[in-house]
Amino acid sequence: MPIRRLPTLLVNQIAAGEVIERPASVVKELVENSLDAGARRIDIAVEDGGRQLIRISDDGAGIPAEELPLALAPHATSKLESPEQLEQIATLGFRGEALASIASISRLRITSRATVRGIVAEAGAVMEAGGDQVGAVQPVAAAPGSLVEVRDLFFNTPARRKFMRAAPTEFGHIAELVSRIAMVRPDVGFSLSHNDRLTLEVAPTESRRQRCVEVLGQELDEALLEFEDHHGDMLGSDVQTGYRLWGLAGRPEIARATAKFQYVCINGRPIRDRQISHAIREAYRGLVPPDQQPVAVVFIDMPFEAVDVNVHPAKAEVRFRDTGRVHGMVLASLRQRLLGADLTPKAGFPQGGLTLGSSGMAAAANHGGTGDTASAPAANLSAASFVDYFRRMDPTQKGFVYQQVKEALAQDDPTAATNDTASGVAASLPLTQPSGNVPPALQAQGVLQVHQSYLVTQDEAGILIIDQHALHERVMFEELRSRILGAGRLESQRMLMPAVLNLSPARLAMLEQLGPLLEKLGIEVEPMGPRSAGIHAFPTFLFDRRVEPVQFMEDLLDRTQEGDFDHVTAAAGNKSDGPQQAQAAQESALHEVLDMMACKAAVKAGDHMSAEELASLLKQRDEIERSSNCPHGRPTTIRLSLRELEKQFKRT
Ligand code: ADP
Ligand code: MG
Repeated sequence: MPIRRLPTLLVNQIAAGEVIERPASVVKELVENSLDAGARRIDIAVEDGGRQLIRISDDGAGIPAEELPLALAPHATSKLESPEQLEQIATLGFRGEALASIASISRLRITSRATVRGIVAEAGAVMEAGGDQVGAVQPVAAAPGSLVEVRDLFFNTPARRKFMRAAPTEFGHIAELVSRIAMVRPDVGFSLSHNDRLTLEVAPTESRRQRCVEVLGQELDEALLEFEDHHGDMLGSDVQTGYRLWGLAGRPEIARATAKFQYVCINGRPIRDRQISHAIREAYRGLVPPDQQPVAVVFIDMPFEAVDVNVHPAKAEVRFRDTGRVHGMVLASLRQRLLGADLTPKAGFPQGGLTLGSSGMAAAANHGGTGDTASAPAANLSAASFVDYFRRMDPTQKGFVYQQVKEALAQDDPTAATNDTASGVAASLPLTQPSGNVPPALQAQGVLQVHQSYLVTQDEAGILIIDQHALHERVMFEELRSRILGAGRLESQRMLMPAVLNLSPARLAMLEQLGPLLEKLGIEVEPMGPRSAGIHAFPTFLFDRRVEPVQFMEDLLDRTQEGDFDHVTAAAGNKSDGPQQAQAAQESALHEVLDMMACKAAVKAGDHMSAEELASLLKQRDEIERSSNCPHGRPTTIRLSLRELEKQFKRT
């Protein structure tokens, strides 16, 4: 076949193939056009999931009658003039392709009445196009602004039409998209209706938080922690030279089974980004279980030239000039907010079971329309699961270890003998609080150990029920962590004979990578050949807990190899990613290792604890970070508020 120029229709349809995947893509392009036109109100109506009709009207600047044909022509835009402008795009659109693409695969009608330099055109104009048919511009009575109607999407592209899903699914995508856009633009009013049924209506507001809550569900309000941060120089308000972050961090108990409830937006553009998702997960590490995803809103405003938006046809992804910086900022801001908050979940009693954060879950599930409740079981403390807990308890494990662990850990602590509770690090070490020296406040407050598994105590707001194992695990974790990050090294015991670890070459290499970290933990491992290594020394406190070194090391390698660690190491090797990724990889490995140690050494359910030990554990609860959750992200504590009790006892 000789080389030929493609006919315009085909060019447009190829372009449409990249951008218009489904009805929601049409809605996205049209709403973006309305926003670029400065609209204050955008009304979206769809029929049959958008398959029959998508209708979007706005009160923006409109299109002058004589420009209407150009608006529908390919590669025609009012938003870009010179190549330099491509470097700093401030509008949502710039490719000049959307209307031409949509017209090539549907029946499109645009009605518009323009406002040019404050003067509203006398009349509106209307124009239709569809496939290779283009109509003439006609005068028409119209309100200022634009109305775009798209009928019979994919009427001439059967392959695409076949791929459209049932109307509710397609509408689901549209609703999701409109929600995301509405969250980012609180200054604009939106309405969305499906088959004449109104599903979303929000009025303009100055409060970003209010808009987000309106969209996500009022029930989630209490569970969202707001944060705001800026990095770099902020020169004036018109020139954006630094980075501004704003967001909402969902409390751990509203975490979900999927990342669908993470909203990321750069310079007013909702996007998805692997690095930012990673930073979000990283910030919640140890606060939500690994199989759950936090709810989070992260909006970043940055200089236009710091982000390239011209990398994805549908503009759903962007490329940052400094990915590492963005990752680091998101991680730092979120983490700071979470560490500064009391994350103890509130317990309520809806029909029978004792559950956590139930209203928030319901809201999120309703919003998603999928009714997914996968995150509920982890937080569910029904009577049945209490019973289950006791069944699973190891009856042979009665020997008490709390004190023993404390002592073993403190033996090599240089600060223990002299330093009281002065520094934060020292404060989290158990032996800085000599046993028996219980603060009077705590003695008065009292604590009860229930079924040798739970501690019951009180604070100003109500009753606290604490899982002794989970809390001790967190305490040990933070303690080990501050020791490792400081100059210290854990006391270890030399083995009479090295224990032999059989390994694949890949694991041996990984072991070497972990070498410096292991050394600090008091684990000495030396390669003994191409496929084995010898364990020469092992931490004393793990010995005391009868933890088997070979088994421990195998578990440890399994866990550092799995999941995140690999992914992050790969990212760290990628040149375009910064040192933040390498650091995240180390953090991730450290977390796994400490987590295992803490879990093995911590008091178990069924271990009796003396009054001093209870008091000392509770004291540490107040002193350490992230005490609300164990290192796996499960709660350590639940709170029954006085209000809830009054309600249950019908005292109000
Ligand atoms: P782009 O948005 O990339 O410029 P489009 O094909 O989406 O390309 O739109 C082409 C042009 O039509 C825009 O540049 C704009 O001038 C005009 N336009 C489209 N929709 C609207 C609208 N709702 N209000 C005002 N002008 C619009
Ligand atoms: Mg556009």
